[in-house]
Amino acid sequence: MILKKISCKMGVKSYIVGGYIRDEILNLESNDIDITVEGDGIRYALMLSKILNGKIEIHEKFKTAKIQADKYTFDVVSARKEYYAHSGILPDVELADIVEDIKRRDFTINMLAFDIKEGMIIDLCNGLDDIKNKLIRVVHDKSFNDDPTRIFRALRYSVRLDFKLEEHTELLLKQSIANGDIDNLSADRIMNEIYLILSEKNPETIVKLMKYYEIDKKIFKGIDINIKNLNTYARYGDVLLYRFLLFFYNVKKDDLDYLNEKFNFRRQYSKGLSDLIEIKMNLYTLKDDIAVYNLFKDKKIEAINAIYTMEGENIKKIVDRYFEVIRSLKLEVNGDAIKELGLEPSPVYKKILEKIYYDKLCGKIINKEDEFERLKQYVEKVKRGEKI
Ligand code: ATP
Repeated sequence: MILKKISCKMGVKSYIVGGYIRDEILNLESNDIDITVEGDGIRYALMLSKILNGKIEIHEKFKTAKIQADKYTFDVVSARKEYYAHSGILPDVELADIVEDIKRRDFTINMLAFDIKEGMIIDLCNGLDDIKNKLIRVVHDKSFNDDPTRIFRALRYSVRLDFKLEEHTELLLKQSIANGDIDNLSADRIMNEIYLILSEKNPETIVKLMKYYEIDKKIFKGIDINIKNLNTYARYGDVLLYRFLLFFYNVKKDDLDYLNEKFNFRRQYSKGLSDLIEIKMNLYTLKDDIAVYNLFKDKKIEAINAIYTMEGENIKKIVDRYFEVIRSLKLEVNGDAIKELGLEPSPVYKKILEKIYYDKLCGKIINKEDEFERLKQYVEKVKRGEKI
């Protein structure tokens, strides 16, 4: 109703397009609403945002705006037509009408538009039939070549919605993979698709399909991508980083430089991956709590989580103990206590506290008094210039 009012007030046509309509028909919840305006999308978005009391972000250059209101996100664009100068390069933008806007979309199921003024669905490419028959279909033979991210998107939709690739579409997808179209994508865009896949409910099946179509061979060359446990959630930490580490669980130390250089992983991800490899290399040498503490203490929690998920019972027990006992061990003493004993602040503080921590882990300290006594001893030693 609100949208209709704005449309009428501005005297422009506007449409709800893409995924929201698809999901409405499929009875799936969707909070992302894409609106295409045949006219000034930014003015439209400003009016909408004011009525909904939302937060608006405007991209003047692209004539688009994003509004956040309650649980809904509205993406408002001015209808546009795109040109593909080279495969894999982001398209230019030019104002055009809704038909062009619909035609630039990836699959027929995403090509439905709801005409807000008229209150009816526009179905130029038989998207409704394809939704009914659960099919992912492209509308022209160059679709995957124009934008190879659609290869990933096709697999993502097919698993998420439990749809099949329409026969000719599957053939085109295979041809595009065989032709190496994915090579035209930047490493960033490839990784973005991988992150989108890993954020799905069922990445395991999507990655299985990637392997089935040998996409992994094209992008990760000889690296053995792991499928197992990809649908699980991290007990601690960030689920995307955790799944990323599961995805690359089989990566060897020698592959790390190649991967980092080619894909320019975000810092946390790159650290997670090297942590994972380091833990894996030392996993079977762990002989006591101290060794576990030393190996795990500065590692990303998601890497430890991935280890827990992937390894056998013995290792799971060690990780459990790390999370439940070793990691949560707290000290009674701190830097202030050392200062009170008359030692000037310096890096030796850290060393002393680490020593106390070790002593506590080994059971050499059993109560508060013990701990303060030990602290005194270490401080005295340092004062005397002895090694601790
Ligand atoms: P979800 O956000 O839940 O993954 P969605 O269908 O809304 O599903 P988006 O990635 O948000 O997907 O894209 C919004 C719409 O933009 C899609 O429905 C599709 O029509 C279009 N679109 C997105 N990426 C492409 C692409 N690479 N090629 C063509 N059209 C695309």
